[in-house]
Amino acid sequence: MTLNNLNDLFLHELKDVLDAEHQLVEALPKMADAAADPELALAFQEHLRHTERQVTRLESVFAALGEDPEPDTCEGMQGLIEEGTELMETDAEPSVRDAALIAAAQRVEHYEIAAYGTLRVWAATLGLNEAVELLEETLEEEKAADQKLTMIAEGNVNIEAETEASEAEDVEEVGTAASKPRPARTGSTSRRTTAGRPRTRTRATKPARGSRRKTRAR
Ligand code: FE
Ligand code: ZN
Ligand code: FE
Repeated sequence: MTLNNLNDLFLHELKDVLDAEHQLVEALPKMADAAADPELALAFQEHLRHTERQVTRLESVFAALGEDPEPDTCEGMQGLIEEGTELMETDAEPSVRDAALIAAAQRVEHYEIAAYGTLRVWAATLGLNEAVELLEETLEEEKAADQKLTMIAEGNVNIEAETEASEAEDVEEVGTAASKPRPARTGSTSRRTTAGRPRTRTRATKPARGSRRKTRAR
């Protein structure tokens, strides 16, 4: 393949993003199934419907150019989905898995935002007004999806995941707390999260695994 001009490059990247969207149509139902938070599961289901529409929109862009909608393997998206799947399959507390799912999904959205942002500008340069409109619509959906994920993460999931971690630490530390006194807690109000739930100790105050084992052996 030779890229002679911006039009060739535009077409090449359109094929790439078409494949990326196809990959997401496959991945999003799995992410919805893996999500423990009902709001997060719903967000993935909703974005699946958007993604299906985005495929149709891309097909319209190809049609406007008089080209066939031929996907071209998007290795970037393959990598993002692969990493997300790996995390999804790792043994984790439900809310921690949700936080991981959101992190993976936001990487995907940012990748798409970059792709559509570029495509839209190129379409404008090429004077493809219909394509500009279609790409703009999708770009806005991707941004909205990203913001929705931030809302869910900050509203619920991250705090639950943080509490989950602290609970696990408390169980582990039974009987060893005296071996390394914790610094006195001060300014408890400033340690409250936006949701008003008190935060427990941070990981930094916990003795390292190795040092704790030594203490026990003595
Ligand atoms: Fe998309
Ligand atoms: Zn790609
Ligand atoms: Fe998306």
